[in-house]
Amino acid sequence: SDGPSDMAPEIWEKVKDHPCYSEEAHHYFARMHVAVAPACNIQCNYCNRKYDCANESRPGVVSERLDPEQAARKVIAVANEVPQLSVLGIAGPGDSAYDWRKTKETFDLVYKQLPDIKLCLSTNGLALPDHVDDLLEMNIDHVTLTINMIDPEVGTKIYPWIFYQHKRHTGLEASKILHERQMQSLDLLAERGILVKVNSVMIPGINDKHLLEVNKVVKEKGAFLHNIMPLISAPEHGTVFGLEGQRGPTAAELKELQDACAGGANLMRHCRQCRADAVGLLGEDRGQEFTMDLVPEEVS
Ligand code: SF4
Ligand code: SF4
Repeated sequence: SDGPSDMAPEIWEKVKDHPCYSEEAHHYFARMHVAVAPACNIQCNYCNRKYDCANESRPGVVSERLDPEQAARKVIAVANEVPQLSVLGIAGPGDSAYDWRKTKETFDLVYKQLPDIKLCLSTNGLALPDHVDDLLEMNIDHVTLTINMIDPEVGTKIYPWIFYQHKRHTGLEASKILHERQMQSLDLLAERGILVKVNSVMIPGINDKHLLEVNKVVKEKGAFLHNIMPLISAPEHGTVFGLEGQRGPTAAELKELQDACAGGANLMRHCRQCRADAVGLLGEDRGQEFTMDLVPEEVS
């Protein structure tokens, strides 16, 4: 296929077999996430740590936490059963760039046995600048950054604190640091030719209008896709942590914002906000067939 009209051919070449980026590929290629990143270095007001990172996943579901060795075993067991497996992502349940040792070890173990699998990770970007050189070595060609604001004032309504350089920061200072590190992540990834998708969570009354500006800036900085996701408030799970009573956008509000951003970084509309341990084709989740108790001790 020639790819979407608004995507450069060299980018399409890289993403056409990626189920999360190509509308077509997601019918034929499978992806899986492994939940090896339990901790997070920031607090989003819409997050409850008991569940998956809402930045890439449907909040309100608990994933099976794995260590790198278990995760690698699981990936290989899945690859043996699901021949269409083409992508392995680390997307939580916390932040994949924070406890870098675990993320790196998992990818290194998998890469040794499955050198053709595409590796990707999603992160809030705070810790990422410290690891961009590793990314190239590790053969990671896709990164998802969650960016909900480019104005730290807006950030103060979304992020009560961050943990950075051994210290907790709050208020405007926290959002300023986060913003700077996110912009730095975008620049460093673009410099190294690593594909960047940006996710934004649309929070009505907080950043909904502001996301138009976010769209403009991330596009200028080279993100090839901007995925605007609705805040999913699930009060029965207590997932909305510091935004009690906050509603998510209606389908019409979401579509209106996505339409207004069209022509910005190519918007992605088919993201299913899969859980941090999702397995299978997009839109299906075979995770329950591959829980650790079902994965053999020895796999190759
Ligand atoms: Fe792809 Fe979105 Fe699912 Fe991640 S959460 S695997 S980007 S569809
Ligand atoms: Fe939760 Fe993800 Fe935000 Fe961390 S980055 S607080 S895990 S939603």
